[in-house]
Amino acid sequence: DAALAVPDKQVDSVCPYCGVGCQLTYNIKDNKILFVEGRDGPANRERLCVKGRYGFDYAHHPHRLTVPLIRRADAPKSGEFTMDPARVLDVFREATWEEALDAAGGALARIRDTYGKRALAGFGSAKGSNEEAYLFQKLVRTGFGSNNVDHCTRLCHASSVAALLEGIGSGAVSNPVMDVTLAEVVIVIGANPTVNHPVAATWIKNAIRNGTKLVVCDPRRSDLARSAHRYLQFKPDTDVALLNAMMHVIVAEGLVDQDFIASRTIGYAELERNVAGYSPELMAPICGVDADTIRYVARLYATSKASMILWGMGISQHIHGTDNARCLIALALMTGQIGRPGTGLHPLRGQNNVQGASDAGLIPMMFPDYQRVDNPAALAKFEKAWGMPLDSMPGLTVVEIMHAIPRGDIRGMYIMGENPAMSDPDANHARASLAALDHLVVQDIFLTETAYLADVILPASAFPEKTGSFTNTDRLVQIGRQAIDPPGQARQDLWIIGQMAARLGLDWQYGHVSEVFDEMRRIMPSIGGITWDRLEREHAVTYPCTKEGDPGQPVVFTEQFPRESGRARFVPADIIPADERPDAAYPMVLITGRQLEHWHTGSMTRRTAVLDAIEPDPVALVHPLDLAALGGKPGDVVTIASRRGEVALYARADDSSPRGAIFVPFCYYEAAINRLTNAALDPFGKIPEFKYCAIRVALGGVV
Ligand code: SF4
Repeated sequence: DAALAVPDKQVDSVCPYCGVGCQLTYNIKDNKILFVEGRDGPANRERLCVKGRYGFDYAHHPHRLTVPLIRRADAPKSGEFTMDPARVLDVFREATWEEALDAAGGALARIRDTYGKRALAGFGSAKGSNEEAYLFQKLVRTGFGSNNVDHCTRLCHASSVAALLEGIGSGAVSNPVMDVTLAEVVIVIGANPTVNHPVAATWIKNAIRNGTKLVVCDPRRSDLARSAHRYLQFKPDTDVALLNAMMHVIVAEGLVDQDFIASRTIGYAELERNVAGYSPELMAPICGVDADTIRYVARLYATSKASMILWGMGISQHIHGTDNARCLIALALMTGQIGRPGTGLHPLRGQNNVQGASDAGLIPMMFPDYQRVDNPAALAKFEKAWGMPLDSMPGLTVVEIMHAIPRGDIRGMYIMGENPAMSDPDANHARASLAALDHLVVQDIFLTETAYLADVILPASAFPEKTGSFTNTDRLVQIGRQAIDPPGQARQDLWIIGQMAARLGLDWQYGHVSEVFDEMRRIMPSIGGITWDRLEREHAVTYPCTKEGDPGQPVVFTEQFPRESGRARFVPADIIPADERPDAAYPMVLITGRQLEHWHTGSMTRRTAVLDAIEPDPVALVHPLDLAALGGKPGDVVTIASRRGEVALYARADDSSPRGAIFVPFCYYEAAINRLTNAALDPFGKIPEFKYCAIRVALGGVV
């Protein structure tokens, strides 16, 4: 009985789920996690949400991969995904590590040598450590020889990062979440922190209790909206209309911070000209928020002593995601609401290490620390550091790689800890692409939908089975420590990456994980002052931390922005409609996202007893009036179809969505909603439009 057992070991670590980065302690007995407790970390002060507290027993699940697997020669890469162990061995045979690594590395090396260095690609993971992300991208850049390396940041905040790098010179947050407690006004837009960043939501609620005014802007009425001073339920896809109208008010009423604009920015005149055409009266019918409310919120934000903006995927996952983020940046710049405690811009990062994985260079256009691959100085620096010539052409992004496979441009892939068969838009197409590869190597802890299409599967370590550093949404670098041993023959990811590197001709000599971190800090100025010993001692250090002993900077841009001129740049945006609008054949809108209890594609949380018991079945959240109009009731099965596929799920009456819009979580393999989503991309961030596509809904179907 786990509840009564006494732990024989306690290990301090961090939560493996979201970017809040809560510190926790694993309580262990006989190599099993009994329970988890919150620690007094900077981001959580002992708090944990339901995932952090109960989402640990996936590590002990019988579905864990414990032996390397090689696809049987006669097993077609088709048919439906199965987790049935009996059927798995119809498709794969067990192999030794030597055999599996030789098969995996040998096949990828042959593709490289036959078709060229750009015929290979790799997806790393935002769930891996900084060191794993760093070595994975180094393997692709030096072992494969191209920049075709990416990860799920492309599916979450790539557009935010594109806008932030362009506008203020840094893709990370300006202020930590905890700064909401210092703000007079907080705007949360396109984010549902209660579900996706639950402990962050508790800090927002605490701030409200102390007098902070919260404004929630979202087409879906989140739980947090109930605590809001104002809730603006704008129509899906009309972010730019709403935000430009707010800026129009600020300009028209003389609420801009002229000193800040003059001393710290460029490009304001162009922005002012652009927003002149976006009066609240003109925009109100477009965005669905009345002109007086737009005016009130604009004044509130501009005139408070400290206003902060937090946003999520509702902003970023559009073909105009970069434009949405440009508007938020412009709002902060024109009012001088940045560079001080309680102000600033905070894109809430999703995965526990999506910030760190991006910092470590797991993106196709940047070396570590956002040094562009096509910048000759950066190229020379990394060629010297890694001792070989590197490709100066930016690589392909996640969705671009899926489209390059059918053309024959990408023939082999190495995927570590990502599940594009579930997470990519137009997943039927993504699955067909993965199946069409000459060779696919997947490194994971479970037989995911992606691993099911692999030629070689390498059984990896779960989060509590390894040590590494992780960077949360606040730029806090923290240590996740090994608490238990991997099961069976499963091995630690760093070891596996090193073995793959050897088979691709690389001679790496890394021992302890701290040696990888040391190499990173030598070539990444932002973390140059953080030593492994200090991380061990202090548990968490904020970057930028450029020199040893530097305390780190939780609030940045206090004096200048990290752009050439030291000044931030305004970039105006105009309304661009969604790629696929509703029509007579597909009259409704699909919005996808997450649930509180389940994490992304569900591979961990659906194998967690408590979480799966709370949310066991695939659901579609349908407005009660829309459900009634269909002739249905809660619990009925509905079939949702787009131009790309259809799935059946259970209907849940939910009036938080506007009528005509249905929300579906993307974690259910039996109703993989990304079969329906649209792969159209934002041209700057290359992020797909997960938050908007046209669908039709009918009663009935089989789940
Ligand atoms: Fe983990 Fe995020 Fe929950 Fe904290 S808020 S316990 S980091 S999932």
